[in-house]
Amino acid sequence: PSGRLAGKTAIVTGSSSGIGQGIALRFASEGANVVIDFHGHPEAGEETRAKAEASGVKAILVKSDVSKIADTANLVEQAWSQLGGCDVLVNNAGVEKNAAFLDVTEDDYDLVLDTNLKGAFFLTQAFVKRLRDEKMRGCVINMSSVHEDMVFPNFATYCASKGGVRMLMRDLAVELGPMGIRVNNIAPGAISTPINKSLLEDKPKLDALLKNIPLGRSGSVEDVAGLAVYLASDEAAYVTGSTFVVDGGLMRNYHEQ
Ligand code: NAD
Repeated sequence: PSGRLAGKTAIVTGSSSGIGQGIALRFASEGANVVIDFHGHPEAGEETRAKAEASGVKAILVKSDVSKIADTANLVEQAWSQLGGCDVLVNNAGVEKNAAFLDVTEDDYDLVLDTNLKGAFFLTQAFVKRLRDEKMRGCVINMSSVHEDMVFPNFATYCASKGGVRMLMRDLAVELGPMGIRVNNIAPGAISTPINKSLLEDKPKLDALLKNIPLGRSGSVEDVAGLAVYLASDEAAYVTGSTFVVDGGLMRNYHEQ
């Protein structure tokens, strides 16, 4: 296969839907072999795998709950045993839970923090251990959010998780740089995917949101995937330790107010 990612292999978590699926398919179309990870929907995972393979690359399907350390280790193991190695990890799997701070339960907290932060933390650790053992360089991309920086009332768990991912990325860029491992975040704004279906289908709420987005529309998974291809490619060889915002100007507008 030819393309900007030819010869690379990528693990993309939560890739049976939404942004992760868009990234996995775009990576495949750019020549990368991909590990499709699904949590709850095997059919959607298999459909994504088959579509990726139609681009002429190798694509495997692995079930994993990223909040379980054994599952994260298995994802890395499968990439090496079935695809012969891995260069790129996209920590994309994520959940959000709407609850006023005073109503947040321990279960809510554990679900959001364990998926969004602990998952990214330990999957990256398993990936980097393998890179170290094989003396390979690599690249980690975390799907953060504008809410790694921007407040989101009633989503304190989500903000805490994404704020954690912001500092995790900064710390690892410094700690892993000497190993030739680059670490960056993508911070999407409002992207049309299943995670925010109810908001995007609520016209008054959507209109209020669009008023705050200078480019006047919500984003698509393709808008995010293009940036992910760049960060995973050798064109970004000197890029590490930063968050790249893809939000139609939402965050800038908010900061200027
Ligand atoms: P989505 O719901 O379509 O995707 C989330 C994916 O994560 C799903 O495939 C789901 O199965 C998977 N997942 C959830 N828990 C998991 C677990 N424990 N183990 C493995 N996989 C798990 O929504 P999306 O919008 O594509 O979200 C992808 C990422 O982008 C998330 O991290 C989200 O926080 C982030 N994000 C989305 C938006 C947006 O507007 N859509 C904005 C900012 C950030």
